[in-house]
Amino acid sequence: MNKSPLLTFQQAKELILTTGNAFNYDQYKTVSLMESIDCYLAESIYSPLSIPSFNNSAMDGYVVRQQDIENFSTLPIAGSIFAGDNDEITWPKGSCLRIMTGAYVPQDAYAVIMQEKVTLQNNCITFDQQQIKKGQNIRYIGESINKGDKVLTKGERLNIGKLATLATLGIQQVKIYKPIKVALFSTGNELTSIGEDLKSNNHIYDSNRFTLHLMLKTLGCEVIDLGIIKDDLTLIKQTLQKASEEADLVITSGGVSVGDADYVKQALEQLGHINFWKIAIKPGKPFAFGRLGQALFCGLPGNPVSSLVTFYQLVQPLILTMFSQKIAPNSLTFKVKTTSNLTKTPGRLDFQRGYLYSNKNGELVVTSTGQQGSHFTSSFDRANCFILLEKDRGDVLAGEWVIVEPFNKLLS
Ligand code: AMP
Ligand code: MG
Repeated sequence: MNKSPLLTFQQAKELILTTGNAFNYDQYKTVSLMESIDCYLAESIYSPLSIPSFNNSAMDGYVVRQQDIENFSTLPIAGSIFAGDNDEITWPKGSCLRIMTGAYVPQDAYAVIMQEKVTLQNNCITFDQQQIKKGQNIRYIGESINKGDKVLTKGERLNIGKLATLATLGIQQVKIYKPIKVALFSTGNELTSIGEDLKSNNHIYDSNRFTLHLMLKTLGCEVIDLGIIKDDLTLIKQTLQKASEEADLVITSGGVSVGDADYVKQALEQLGHINFWKIAIKPGKPFAFGRLGQALFCGLPGNPVSSLVTFYQLVQPLILTMFSQKIAPNSLTFKVKTTSNLTKTPGRLDFQRGYLYSNKNGELVVTSTGQQGSHFTSSFDRANCFILLEKDRGDVLAGEWVIVEPFNKLLS
């Protein structure tokens, strides 16, 4: 039995991120912008344009010169500029021009006066000179992005916001990483695959493989699903061998603890360089991590909640660093008051499941989603965050401050 002291969560995560960052993944392809949503950039993007690429109006209104507004509070309208107009307009001194949002602003313009701020009469506008500031309502060239600026960094995951920027820049194709290959199997004589009849009264459905598969797909991995493997040392060794030859990362569920049928551990000890960690977290104490040939390896605990939490908290950052090379994902955490009592034994960092909401005073508060046992995932059904209860903390009373971590899109 492994008598080594418990690792803290931070120690385990740092080791995982270091390994993920050192993983040298260079399989990429070029795809259209439309196909690139949720993919990881394999190149940094530098802007081919300045944005705005020309000085333009932020409002529908009237464009004026400095000298004119110093001398007059009423100006005749000499013409109009519409968005998309190209020709330099004739603009006599002592007049203004009607201008629409997005239209180019002439060189010697001082400001655009919002149309709501003028009185219009006999093709003339009257305005309050004191209210006009230099550059008002003008979007200047390069104000947002300068030509040549780095807009996105290699490794970032593309989302709609980032793709909107690339579309603004007229970029049509991007170089992205091909999905990493992840081989996945469950171990346990008691497991039946979803879609089949339970093999006996003492069987349970292999929910972990389903959940893990879905989370891997959501993270953009290609999943090699190797099914359920019996608790049999030879079979497990054969499957691990095959998995490590085909995949960049091998993930197993179950069999990494200290039970008599926990053969994954034995098999790994014979085949690879694996650390059997006991991490001071709840749920999810047993967790195996290391290398199997060229592939990285994560052995998750069999309990469904433990498997889900360790995947989210440890495997997810590993995969992100494997893809994204050097971009360590930071999770968002902050403090709120709990509205329910929380049961907690000192000694491990708890990842309880909670529901974060605004109370009637508009304050963010969190409540427990109930039973926190690690054998059944119902505590996730209504949850939108983890409640992180520090290692040395005991029971928590309603009204106390707790740290919460809202779920990212993997769980929400
Ligand atoms: P183990 O880690 O193999 O000792 O399993 C711990 C607990 O999780 C046992 O109650 C198993 O029956 C259950 N379990 C193991 N694998 C799975 C799975 N793939 N899906 C659902 N429950 C599982
Ligand atoms: Mg088992």
